[in-house]
Amino acid sequence: MWKRKNETTVFLGGKEAYAAAAHMAEGCPLFREDCEEECVTDDPRSCYNCRYRRWTKDSFVCMKGAGQ
Ligand code: SF4
Repeated sequence: MWKRKNETTVFLGGKEAYAAAAHMAEGCPLFREDCEEECVTDDPRSCYNCRYRRWTKDSFVCMKGAGQ
């Protein structure tokens, strides 16, 4: 579900893989919910709502190096 690219890990599911992003965050001890205005899904725990994701054009990268 991740791909290494330029020292970061890119989520391969894109921006609309809500179930996969929630599943990833469920298993991630580093999840920290972002501030309310940055959250994009109603899933209480999702990579899409994590303060350590940084949006890219097509997806996001995990600043904590998920998937390494
Ligand atoms: S974005 Fe990274 S740190 Fe945040 S929940 Fe997902 S895998 Fe974990």
